[in-house]
Amino acid sequence: MMKRSVPVVWFVFVVSYALCAGPVADPGSRGVDWQRVKAKVEARDWAGEIVRGMEQSVRGVMGRYDHPPLGKTGWFHDYFCGDDAQRLIFDPQKPHEHVCPGCGRVYSGAPYDDCWRASVHREINAATADSAVLWRVTGQRSFVEYARKILLWYADNYEKFEVHGKHAGKGRIHEQSLDEAVHLVQLAEAYWDICPELTAEERDVIVRKFLVPDALFIHGQTWTIHNIHSWHNAAVGLVGFATGNEDMVKAAIDGECGMKAQIQRGTKEDGFWYEGSIGYHFYTISSLQPLYLAAKAQGYPLEGTDKFRLMYTAAIDFTFDNGEFPASNDGWPDQNIRNLGAYYEAAAGHWNDSQAMNLLDTIYRRGRRSHKNALLYGPETISARTSDSSRSTLFTDSGVAILRNDAVNAYLKFGPYGGGHDHNDRLNLVLFAKGHVVIPDLGTSGYGIALNGKWFRASAAHNMLVVDGRRQANCGGYLVSYADDAVEAGVRDAYEGVDIRRRIRLRGDGIEDVVWAESDKTHQYDLFYHVRGTLEECSAALEPAEAIKAGNGYDMQRDIRKGRCEKSCELTWRLRDANGGIRIKATSEAPFEVFVGTCPDNPANKEQSFLMLRRTGAAAKWTAEIVVGE
Ligand SMILES: [Zn+2]
Ligand SMILES: [Zn+2]
Repeated sequence: MMKRSVPVVWFVFVVSYALCAGPVADPGSRGVDWQRVKAKVEARDWAGEIVRGMEQSVRGVMGRYDHPPLGKTGWFHDYFCGDDAQRLIFDPQKPHEHVCPGCGRVYSGAPYDDCWRASVHREINAATADSAVLWRVTGQRSFVEYARKILLWYADNYEKFEVHGKHAGKGRIHEQSLDEAVHLVQLAEAYWDICPELTAEERDVIVRKFLVPDALFIHGQTWTIHNIHSWHNAAVGLVGFATGNEDMVKAAIDGECGMKAQIQRGTKEDGFWYEGSIGYHFYTISSLQPLYLAAKAQGYPLEGTDKFRLMYTAAIDFTFDNGEFPASNDGWPDQNIRNLGAYYEAAAGHWNDSQAMNLLDTIYRRGRRSHKNALLYGPETISARTSDSSRSTLFTDSGVAILRNDAVNAYLKFGPYGGGHDHNDRLNLVLFAKGHVVIPDLGTSGYGIALNGKWFRASAAHNMLVVDGRRQANCGGYLVSYADDAVEAGVRDAYEGVDIRRRIRLRGDGIEDVVWAESDKTHQYDLFYHVRGTLEECSAALEPAEAIKAGNGYDMQRDIRKGRCEKSCELTWRLRDANGGIRIKATSEAPFEVFVGTCPDNPANKEQSFLMLRRTGAAAKWTAEIVVGE
């Protein structure tokens, strides 16, 4: 799937590079106004603190490692515990010992040692980029010397790193073209910032033996619209600008899959990145931001990139009231926009965007400005602006509605299939109340562990109707109606011959949730809810039930009990993360079975409860009152 022949542009680059006299001595601005940055540091305590924090962490890395490690590197997603999905602890002192913080198991050898080496490269790369910034801001020689030393080390050793990797694009210093690109972005920026301090010979060595070959290696793998390929562009474009190679810049921005094409074709009309998870949305912004700002500063024409700004503002509306994003698809749990101030520093500084300003104002009521982006790109002062946005939001193109009132926020997904990161969960519900997600989507864990496919991506882990125990087809749903307090949507193609609908209406104390399905044939219909709490009461008589021996998440259910309901069933749970409880009263015109029990949360050392309503027949319909109370 990733195989493509080497593009012709390779040849063009090599020729144009060979013809030019050598890399430029001063590439000009990459979008940072160093005079303004220094003025902020003089005038603002927070800016001085950021500088001191960077100094401390850079000195820490300088002291920990003499130089980057030689040897094979591993894949980030393999650095997780296979038993409980926890990320292993990276200890800079222990290259062969990787401890799970959950169960204490100690991992050693490949691929864990390889992942450890990749982490060391990551620390050093970040320190090199920061070091170059610190040189610009403080003028201390030790910082320019460190950045110079590391860049020269990569130039001297780049050839020793073999092409390797098994996942979506190959790397040399890293395991994936993605990590290779992220790493090159940092080192290209470091090179850019210290460029005027380097000798012509040093520039030549770094550019010829490392920056350009690594950029060409990465660019040779760019062929589609995808967050990874957007990172490729960032690396290639920044190397192009930093070294004065116009062909590279052109390929990275105006190429067939260049930055403009990524923005135009990869971003939906409502501002969302097409891969369907907020993690990838921001990960893509991270790749676009440095190249966009550099291109702007360099006067490179950027027509057709208006949707880039919308990417920032759309995400602000895609949150629950505590700032948390729904962990839909391969989104990581507990992601909160209030931790993403760094992005909005750039948006507020660059466009003077009022939504970004308001968000920063909310964020900094509780904490200080502490990210490098505040220093480099942010406005000198933050001031809230007036706004009159409606509380509920419909993202028409992405196919997501979030209804909001004072009691709850309810998320419903019905949009188009989003590709490999999609969880095939049309009409999935997520409910937020009392400051927490109480009926969750679990998102993802490290992709490397078995639990990810077995559970987090499985149908039975989602709050939706599952037909015949099967996974939904790759498909989109449709919107029936939307208002500030109600949304109805359907899906016809998830299961052949079955039309499913869901209508959610806000109540003062929760939601009314109606789910129904129709077909010509008999099916087993299972309506799932997952509650972050403990079951306290159930109106139906329950008896222990056998484990369900089916895949697709059913085999992850534990402590199963079941009962029969003639018309309705009422259950209450005590909430795990908040005071109070949640009550679900499910009513159906036909008798149905009810299953309750526990199942893994994310991370999997936490537990949650599940409720499964089952009916076998041609049609099924439940009306559920979901009430959050004391
Ligand atoms: Zn473990
Ligand atoms: Zn999911």
